[in-house]
Amino acid sequence: MKATINSSWQTALIQLDTVSKMMMLPDDIHQMLRNFDRILTVSLPVRMDDGFMRVFNGFRVQHNASRGPYKGGVRYHPELTLDDLMALAMEMTWKCSLAGVPFGGAKGGIICNPKTFSKDELERLTRRYTYAIMPIIGVEKDIPAPDVNTNEQIMAWMMDTYSINNGYCTPGIVTGKPLNIGGSLGRTDATGLGITFTIANAVKNTKMNLKGLKVAIQGYGNVGSAVGKFLSEMGCKIIAVSSSKGGVYNPKGLRHDILIKHYKENGSFEHFPHGESITNASLFELPCDVLVPAAMGNQITKENADKIKAKMIVEGANGPTTIEADHILTKRKIPVVPDILANAGGVIVSYFEWVQDVQCYFWCEHEVNTKLKDILDRTYREVYTLAQEKKSNMRAAAMNIAVKRVADAIQVRGLYP
Ligand code: GLU
Repeated sequence: MKATINSSWQTALIQLDTVSKMMMLPDDIHQMLRNFDRILTVSLPVRMDDGFMRVFNGFRVQHNASRGPYKGGVRYHPELTLDDLMALAMEMTWKCSLAGVPFGGAKGGIICNPKTFSKDELERLTRRYTYAIMPIIGVEKDIPAPDVNTNEQIMAWMMDTYSINNGYCTPGIVTGKPLNIGGSLGRTDATGLGITFTIANAVKNTKMNLKGLKVAIQGYGNVGSAVGKFLSEMGCKIIAVSSSKGGVYNPKGLRHDILIKHYKENGSFEHFPHGESITNASLFELPCDVLVPAAMGNQITKENADKIKAKMIVEGANGPTTIEADHILTKRKIPVVPDILANAGGVIVSYFEWVQDVQCYFWCEHEVNTKLKDILDRTYREVYTLAQEKKSNMRAAAMNIAVKRVADAIQVRGLYP
């Protein structure tokens, strides 16, 4: 029996190696792409509300900047590892390249459980982290953004800390900021809206119809709940949703507004009156048209991939499918729209936010959303066409396009010195 590949980093490398072989990438470029430009580890002493000091570990991982400044989110999580961040940073390189936005890939984070902190503690931790990574970030160097357990308030503190130390107001240092300090209209919902556009594109190539499309969503946070909202508006049926504490199922459909109200009031979907309680694991086994994993990574594994009854999977989260599960799903002919395509809406609108910040000229929401749709429609077409041509799955096709653009940039820039 083959050993399980349970490291995100191993998964990211296998995905790169596979596509490099397929496209006959020159070995030197392949080696460059398997490595990182820079990994910074920082220690963050923080005074807690009880007067004691605690030291946290933080990171910023910069994968590749051949196509533009590094870009990627910052996540706060108790089980965060450098290994995860390496995989996520590399994934950002591919995501930006595939969407054609002129950024490279990075990711950062702090090992901590932000749910146990007061607002003041969170602010002190965020400011200390920003200060610690200041030497390697910058408007034209590396632009952080929100990710798991970080939000626009955290981006505001990051922007403020950087600006104070920099000597002048620097809105373009982070994206995903509040509107009144240089954020972009449409950024908060961008990842969810992008996933919705992608589902609409994917459904066009099948016998399924958006009207009445049965969708199950794992994770109903910022991303999952926006998907629920937009799909409901488009006439789809949200048949199941879940959070880390479990979920709810109703084959006749669940109402987004009632789900959100219940979640806000109770912090979970427990005792939700309009559906049957389910576990996070059983959500994957429900009969539905589209399954959207929009929580953490490594959720679809060799243990549950055989039990999935969805006709299609659209990856809202980063890295939700393991290598083994990917093989099983390909064999079972269940199409998987990969994360670097499906959830690119966030970084695409981050790019728009950055462009608006550096130009000091702001767009209306319609302009943001129209431009977002254009990019995602075009990218979907490119990936789908290549997958048909090469008779490969969509992940391989998406990786092929993304890696080729980065490789071309490396080649044309040449090697220094
Ligand atoms: N954290 C998001 C992602 O994984 C957004 C990154 C960004 O906007 O830079 O795509």
